[in-house]
Amino acid sequence: MPDLHADLARTRADYEGFKARGLKLDMTRGKPSPEQLSLSDAMLLPQGNRDTTTAAGEDARNYGGALQGLPEVRALFGEALGLPADAIVLGNNSSLALMHDCIVWALLKGVPGGERPWSREASPAFICPVPGYDRHFGLAEEFGFRLLPVPLTGQGPDMDAVEALAADPSVKGMWCVPRYSNPTGETYSDDAVRRLAAMKAGAPDFRLFWDDAYAVHHLTDRRTPLASILDLTREAGHSDRAFCFGSTSKVTLAGAGVALFASSPANVAWFLARAGRRTIGSDKLNQLRHMRFLRDAEGLHAHMGRHRDLIGPKFDAVLAALERRLGGTGLARWSRPEGGYFISVDAVPGTASRVVALAKAAGVALTPAGATWPGGADPEDANLRLAPTFPKLAEVEAAAEGIAICIALAGLEKRGGDAASTS
Ligand code: PMP
Repeated sequence: MPDLHADLARTRADYEGFKARGLKLDMTRGKPSPEQLSLSDAMLLPQGNRDTTTAAGEDARNYGGALQGLPEVRALFGEALGLPADAIVLGNNSSLALMHDCIVWALLKGVPGGERPWSREASPAFICPVPGYDRHFGLAEEFGFRLLPVPLTGQGPDMDAVEALAADPSVKGMWCVPRYSNPTGETYSDDAVRRLAAMKAGAPDFRLFWDDAYAVHHLTDRRTPLASILDLTREAGHSDRAFCFGSTSKVTLAGAGVALFASSPANVAWFLARAGRRTIGSDKLNQLRHMRFLRDAEGLHAHMGRHRDLIGPKFDAVLAALERRLGGTGLARWSRPEGGYFISVDAVPGTASRVVALAKAAGVALTPAGATWPGGADPEDANLRLAPTFPKLAEVEAAAEGIAICIALAGLEKRGGDAASTS
């Protein structure tokens, strides 16, 4: 195997060279960079008295008026996300917290259409498209759900597998990041959305947890459309099937945005009945700040264009490094996302943990291998999630080069090992 030996020796030398640079880079989490956060600095200017009055003439500094969230802000987000304003409930800064509330309330109280609270089911389960978002899986795991992985296809989940699993009455829910999915970047096809809306579910209270976290986070000129899950579930006679979520965490300020829940009239009434016990209302001043700053849906899209100007080159840098080092080698496959926050790489099976360890030793922190799978365990040990938004462009360029070297080295080592064990 002279070629393999030569490749391995060369790649090892490149790796040692990279390590010797003594870099310290972090590509672990999909966080906006300080420059992206600064795009929203105008929102932090003190609000004068004039600015605390809602469209209805109410004083947003006080209690009351809008458990569902200010109508003008619901209308703005509704237009941007393709949702009717009265289907939306605004929350505080975290959509994950709203997902948590829905799960806890479903467990303790049950949801519309259900015969009993989910906690009374013997062994409730969630369908988990993989690779997926680790915090979704962790949340369901926290409350004892069985997690059932199904593969993503590039156009949404493998729907034959989903339909087979959903027929089981113990399957209560499914995680979906339908647009620019975390981490694969794919958007569910119209056919996949239609089948999710129409499929027969064994549980009468089955819910899609439809997390459109990256709805407006385009990386190209195209605003990738997504079929309306609320329309399609209603048309299929399953109007209460979808709980939709979103937030401005990666639109304005990740730590201080506005989150939203959206669903059918019955689910909105159910949600508000629970929410009214939990809070007198969410942060209306922050909702107003968003209104003043973004103004309307087009203002929001223009703002997202400025994000794209900052992060687009970082995605390009990672893709270029992967192509340069790994293109045509068969040592990796990777996504070329048109939106969202991640690049998903499938390395040679059995090497993802090795890649993460090699990168760590060379000063590059990556998301732990397996994080994109339920239980943090990727049976193939192949998937890596790259998050290029936070570091500076020069750092992303350096890190991407190093990561590509680590992927190549781990893959060649594996090939070498396999060749040795079969020769
Ligand atoms: N959903 C997905 C798919 C995400 O990737 C993230 C952030 N990484 C979140 C939700 C978190 O959203 P929030 O800040 O609104 O809780």
